[in-house]
Amino acid sequence: MTSHNQPEVNIGLVGHVDHGKTTLVQALSGEWTDQHSEEMKRGISIRLGYADATFRRCPEEDEPEAFTVEEHCEAHDVDTDHLRTVSFVDAPGHETLMATMLSGAAIMDGAVLVVSATEPVPQAQTEEHLSALDIIGIDNIVIAQNKVDLVDEERAMQNYEQIQEFVEGTVAEGAPVVPISAGQEANIDLLIDAIEREIPTPERDPDADARMMVARSFDINRPGTTWEDLLGGVLGGSLVAGKLDVEDELELRPGREVEEGGQTEWRPVETDVRSLQAGGDFVDEVTPGGLLGVGTGLDPAITKGDALAGQVAGPPGSLPPTHEQFVMDVDLLDRIVGDDGGEVDEISTGEPLMLTIGTATTVGSVTSARGGECEVALKRPVCAEAGAKIAINRRVGTRWRLIGVGTLRE
Ligand code: GDP
Ligand code: MG
Repeated sequence: MTSHNQPEVNIGLVGHVDHGKTTLVQALSGEWTDQHSEEMKRGISIRLGYADATFRRCPEEDEPEAFTVEEHCEAHDVDTDHLRTVSFVDAPGHETLMATMLSGAAIMDGAVLVVSATEPVPQAQTEEHLSALDIIGIDNIVIAQNKVDLVDEERAMQNYEQIQEFVEGTVAEGAPVVPISAGQEANIDLLIDAIEREIPTPERDPDADARMMVARSFDINRPGTTWEDLLGGVLGGSLVAGKLDVEDELELRPGREVEEGGQTEWRPVETDVRSLQAGGDFVDEVTPGGLLGVGTGLDPAITKGDALAGQVAGPPGSLPPTHEQFVMDVDLLDRIVGDDGGEVDEISTGEPLMLTIGTATTVGSVTSARGGECEVALKRPVCAEAGAKIAINRRVGTRWRLIGVGTLRE
């Protein structure tokens, strides 16, 4: 059984700190009690910043007023119809760490860019997040002009003009700009309408091999659990292709580092699916969309403390290769986005880079760099396909800053 509540699409919530992302998620998802169930707390916690919202429509009301998250339409005293459940991936707390946002971007089907009407446009992360969307190639975008309750009409219009000017020539050009107040829950119907139009559920190939991007991994056993009661390791993340059933065989790459005869090497790990959790329910089968918890037969010591975060899972033999080093084609930004700007210097041999590929973030050391091409040796290997997009970050001052995008060579 696939749960009715299972989200079918992942929508990123991006934008500058304090512009109202978390408030908006709350306005859209109401009381997401499911997320707080004991299992979720212990296992796939809300720390990843996922929140599911079910969009509904009042059958007796005209659009766009008909769009709602309420199960009952008070105005017409009728129950509302289920449209679809979506999963919002909220950029979690540490907004300065671009990698967090980028690894989320790997599983986003679209994004809502939240921009506060109370500040000049763009603020640092507004710009940074938009260029990340550009790099990762997410072009289904809705802009929520938030906090309009705090400004008068004239300022709201000026801010609107600034937003339009700012997105000109970017991936968000032409995206609808919806004035809202997340705090007062105003124009939420218009926002849902825009999301329904701009961020459709992607078409999925039902026969594709399952591909799961692992974002977290856990040991859910309480300390002192005896071996008879010990539950296998749990993986948290998102399915990006195919479907996954209980009892399916699963391979994880890169897997584990093993030592043999003084040599260390990364070897894939194999296990099977013991339980599946999606949309807050235990289910027998999952399809792409939303946050997924996979109970496995793995020794929890292997999954403890996010040890398998950044790995890829799928049917044995179906996964892309593991790379300990690779060559990438590099496309540098003209200048560093964000508050202090500055030009982006060429990448040089020997410099450390932080690379985000899928949900994996790893530090690499540049072993050769010439022209638009760069070879890196990784601290931790990654599992990725030729053609995969790589977000390239360089240490500038105290922060890793996004400087460009790489494409993994054959
Ligand atoms: P985030 O950092 O983008 O997640 O921002 P938050 O959702 O935490 O919001 C930052 C602050 O702005 C909080 O104090 C919110 O209560 C407030 N806020 C968010 N949306 C609105 C809004 O539409 N109107 C008003 N007046 N305040 C808001
Ligand atoms: Mg927040």
